Amino acid sequence: MTTNSATNRQGAELLCVGTELLLGNILNSNARWLAEQLAALGVPHYRQEVVGDNRERVIQAVRDASQRARVLITSGGLGPTPDDLTTEAIAAAFNTPLQERPEVWELIQARLAGRGRPVAASNRRQAWLPQGAQVLPNPTGTAPGIIWSPVEGFTVLTFPGVPAELKAMWLATAEPWLRQAGVADGVFASRLLRFWGVSESALAEQVSDLLAQDNPTLAPYAGLGEVKLRMTARAKDGATAAALLAPLEAELRRRSGQNCYGIDDDSLASVVLAKLRQRGETLAVAESCSGGGLGAALVAVPGASDVFLGGVIAYANAVKQGLLGVDPLDLERWGAVSDPVAEAMALGAQRLTGSDWALAITGVAGPGGGSEQKPVGLVHIAVAGPGGCRSGEVRFGSSRPRAWIQALSVGEALNRLRLSLA
Ligand code: ATP
Ligand code: MG
Repeated sequence: MTTNSATNRQGAELLCVGTELLLGNILNSNARWLAEQLAALGVPHYRQEVVGDNRERVIQAVRDASQRARVLITSGGLGPTPDDLTTEAIAAAFNTPLQERPEVWELIQARLAGRGRPVAASNRRQAWLPQGAQVLPNPTGTAPGIIWSPVEGFTVLTFPGVPAELKAMWLATAEPWLRQAGVADGVFASRLLRFWGVSESALAEQVSDLLAQDNPTLAPYAGLGEVKLRMTARAKDGATAAALLAPLEAELRRRSGQNCYGIDDDSLASVVLAKLRQRGETLAVAESCSGGGLGAALVAVPGASDVFLGGVIAYANAVKQGLLGVDPLDLERWGAVSDPVAEAMALGAQRLTGSDWALAITGVAGPGGGSEQKPVGLVHIAVAGPGGCRSGEVRFGSSRPRAWIQALSVGEALNRLRLSLA
């Protein structure tokens, strides 16, 4: 085995051990949690790996990581059964014998006895740790982990797979160790800018020069109709990181104009509700193809009740006529999916509830029911406000699943109202 000099090794890596992860039986939530912790601590984190309960592959993964990383964090495989082989494989990776730790064995027996559980011979395996390794105590479970530097400049920390045990051990021992070892030497701070009405590629083009920069970094993400830009700064403390992010955020907002609708936990619904609240105005909805999705998006925001009055799910033409007052002649002449009907629906909701604003959605969600003139994915949206009513169509594409067309309709309607309030 070749050994790099200590200075070549950088950052942290994760190795999650468990065949059930590879089978897709469980989600790798330990990796997610650990990654979050590393980011918050400012530990550079470069790679994650998952292997099954396989001795040779664990050995290989640990050896490989020891060539690259300063710190390797493992999860899983510390239990008493034969498939729990992480500790043994790590020792083997560095040709180091295991050694029984009497104090650990005593603790394991005491823990099991305390829970009224029998002590199995297999539990004794959990007290065998690599020679020279320090014990990483497990305050809530039976088996401890280890903190071990088998070669200079490389340390491995092991955790059980059980999330609650892993978290308790991390907070009590690993985090202080990382700080004291100088691996955690700063913080990462992230902010997420949210956009609607622009494609991921168009937005990436607008900011292509900024995507190449190093600190803060900028990365685009596409969601359902929404595009996001994540800004991440690395600095010695939170205030310095925030100072790095502020000018980037300002520049992104300047370049993207009205397409940027919010930041971090904002949603289109929360932004629209906040604007209406500021103006002291209220909102109602009339929904056909979205079937209540618009109302649901609005009431998902805490405190929506002072702005959002309610709405009508007018799916059948008879309800559009009877409750919302849509003219049967308009339905006949233009069809239910049309600007005149969308406008009549919005005006009907406004009239019924006495709201200042109303949104209406009517469209073809599919997969059936489309025609050449009115294909699946065609949606008409109307915004009625104190100054009148405006409507327009949007085409989401006939190959999109029904649920997407419905969700996109909701986003688009909220965005049109947002722009009307600007
Ligand atoms: P045990 O003593 O329970 O055997 P262990 O350290 O050997 O613990 P595993 O056997 O690998 O760990 O996993 C124990 C349990 O922890 C699993 O059944 C699973 O529910 C959970 N678990 C394991 N790995 C992960 C992971 N990466 N993310 C989330 N949960 C996990
Ligand atoms: Mg196990």
